[in-house]
Amino acid sequence: MRPLSTFLCAFVLSLSLNTWAQSSDCVDKTQADIVLKDFKFYGDQQYLKLCDSNDVATQTIKSLIFLKDLKLNKAAKGYRMGIAGARPYDYVKKRVSIFILENQCDRGTGAFVRLDEKRTVHLCPGQMDAFWRASLVIHEARHLDDDGHAHTECRRGTFALNPGNQSCDLSYDDQGAYAVMTEFYSQIANTEAVNPAIRKLGKSLFMNFVIERFNFLPGDLKDGAFLTDLNNRISFFEGSNRKITEIPSDSIVVNERPATILGAATSKDLTCITSATKFKCIDPFDAKKVFTMQWSQIRPHSMFESFNSRGELTITITDHQGRSAELPTDFENLKDMRESDFAFKSNKKGVLKVQSYMPYIYRGTYSLTLRKDGSVLIKNGALVTPIPGNQKYKDIEGPVVWSPTLQAL
Ligand SMILES: [Zn+2]
Repeated sequence: MRPLSTFLCAFVLSLSLNTWAQSSDCVDKTQADIVLKDFKFYGDQQYLKLCDSNDVATQTIKSLIFLKDLKLNKAAKGYRMGIAGARPYDYVKKRVSIFILENQCDRGTGAFVRLDEKRTVHLCPGQMDAFWRASLVIHEARHLDDDGHAHTECRRGTFALNPGNQSCDLSYDDQGAYAVMTEFYSQIANTEAVNPAIRKLGKSLFMNFVIERFNFLPGDLKDGAFLTDLNNRISFFEGSNRKITEIPSDSIVVNERPATILGAATSKDLTCITSATKFKCIDPFDAKKVFTMQWSQIRPHSMFESFNSRGELTITITDHQGRSAELPTDFENLKDMRESDFAFKSNKKGVLKVQSYMPYIYRGTYSLTLRKDGSVLIKNGALVTPIPGNQKYKDIEGPVVWSPTLQAL
């Protein structure tokens, strides 16, 4: 942990009048002044660099300005906790007054708090836009409450591929740091006054967080798999109670399956989301840069964040054969890509563990195997049982998270 002496010699960052010149890329000085009445920044540099978008203090000030006058609508039905309320700025202000700029953090850490400090958030180096920083600050603010809300190891979802991770909360209802972020994303998505690109991003992140960040899935979401029978009827197999629900043939899930979000992930310069049929990425720093593509040859299976050989945060997509493809790290290299350009390769041992792929499905404590004769077996530890109803299937797809109300979110 950081020695206290470093903290003591750090500067309280102030606005430098002589080195600062207004330009369109700069944070507005008047607005910054207002925010700086509520929050103090400490770091090794003496002045705030309001025209430097790489500067973490500047990114954070931008995020606080973004939150300042924001009055948010409620979250999606079934997800209304009211944790941060309609005014997230007040929520943060009530809990935080000091930001410390760190020179170095553990990989993957954007910010952190220490239990022996009060009202203090440590900010890690990294490029983030105002919206990301804002949600991160709200997350850390939650940790500063007396009950702290520490995280727990993800037992399901993509993060469970990394044993020992502390990337989940137990449940949404616990109202921990991931829940406050999740609700904030949904509120953003539901607020007309927010920029449409950010609202969409909020919705994607909301979907991603409800699916990935809680060991007990919120609402009526269930882990399971889609089963296609010999007559092309699709059913949802609910893993936890072994229930099979036929999905009505007029359902949008059957026709297009847009509600099946297979994954949402963010690298340094891209935020992407994929369903079984569509793939979409945006540049979080420039809402005009949007890339969309229809999957026709490739059947994506999941998508998640990983580090490439150069140590950069990238997005990896896996297909139903368990092969993986790494996305370009920036929008420029992605924008002209066609489906055939995605180089899906078998995984190098030890580089990426794909726990589940066709025809083998694993999520939670069971796996499904589709046998050549069309029968499906459920394997739970050493216990192997046939799927209820003993029907024959030609395809299984998953793991997927589904609920009858998922589309309405
Ligand atoms: Zn946290």
